[in-house]
Amino acid sequence: MTDQVDTLFTRIIKREIPAEIVYEDDLCIAINDIAPQAPVHVLLIPKQQIPRLADATESERAILGHLMLVAGDISRQLGIDEAFRLVVNNGADAGQTVFHLHLHILANPKDSKQFSESDTGI
Ligand code: AMP
Repeated sequence: MTDQVDTLFTRIIKREIPAEIVYEDDLCIAINDIAPQAPVHVLLIPKQQIPRLADATESERAILGHLMLVAGDISRQLGIDEAFRLVVNNGADAGQTVFHLHLHILANPKDSKQFSESDTGI
């Protein structure tokens, strides 16, 4: 890692800020969102600080693929693999507030038919 300033999520990864961790491996961590927009709202975060999806480069191809596979793993772990959504907000105008790439994993296991974009506000 370079001399870049630690993001909120890096501080969580370093255990400087508490979070409810639902998954962790060498490359990424998943935590419960502090302000959930759905009954299941997990943030899947690469340990590498990539500010936005649009900033990712060829050298990040492996970690981006890893995040997709882990999202599937987590969906099975949480029992939401039949119905969940992945959301990435890219840029402030798209609602991104933490400039450390993360995937929102959203699900409403009790009534997934009513789960729509308008319900989450994401
Ligand atoms: P975004 O708006 O796409 O950048 O998403 C950032 C997400 O981080 C929001 O859904 C916030 O609720 C969430 N968040 C902010 N601070 C924390 C925290 N300390 N622990 C867990 N989630 C957080």
